[in-house]
Amino acid sequence: MPFPDLPDRLAEVRARIDDAIRRGGHGQAVTVVAVTKTYGPDAPRAAWEAGLRDVGENKVQEALAKMPQVGVSLRWHLIGHLQRNKVKQIDPFDLIHSMDSARLADALAAHGSARGRPVEVLVQVNVSAEETKGGYQPSMFVQEAGRLRGLSGIAVRGVMTMAPFDAPEATLRSVFAGARRCAEVLRAAGHPATELSMGMSGDYEVAVEEGATLVRLGTVLFGARAA
Ligand SMILES: *Cc1c(COP(=O)(O)O)cnc(C)c1O
Repeated sequence: MPFPDLPDRLAEVRARIDDAIRRGGHGQAVTVVAVTKTYGPDAPRAAWEAGLRDVGENKVQEALAKMPQVGVSLRWHLIGHLQRNKVKQIDPFDLIHSMDSARLADALAAHGSARGRPVEVLVQVNVSAEETKGGYQPSMFVQEAGRLRGLSGIAVRGVMTMAPFDAPEATLRSVFAGARRCAEVLRAAGHPATELSMGMSGDYEVAVEEGATLVRLGTVLFGARAA
């Protein structure tokens, strides 16, 4: 069986998440999104066997090639940058975490309207203002939250963010708290923005303490990626 350690690793992760929920005091439910990028269809299948129902991929093409080979029913999350010329291919995904610009929002909304069903999205926010990372600046949020209300082809379910790699805990905490405030801005504008996608293998406990509802975990579940 591929990934023989996965059940034990997942049990450990779930215990740590439960502790972090208690410490953080937000009382939220947390969904583990198993990040299966670079792995073949055996990874999502192993995730399903271990009881997970949500998987994340960062590339549209790679995910679309994998999906038909998996053979079990999973919720697919797109967590990587989406080019506007690929928007028409996103229908097999259940949630787009990476709506990172106003232009992409417009393209996704046009697609949702054309197919007659809104695209479920999270707004990606670049809280730490790292130039290498995509996403909205928090300062743009109030204005954009209002504008997005006019786009009936998307359903804005919340916010996604990535913290700087290997940052000190105080930095992680302020990034995640900043994302939480962005979700509050969306809700104040009338969006059903209850999801906070934040936390990866190296920082998910702090993210859960700060209110994460979706954690995107690869390495801690499957081991180090080759690529
Ligand atoms: C790869 C990736 C993850 C998972 O990273 P790990 O450190 O292996 O847990 C999470 N989010 C995004 C956007 C990714 O690209």
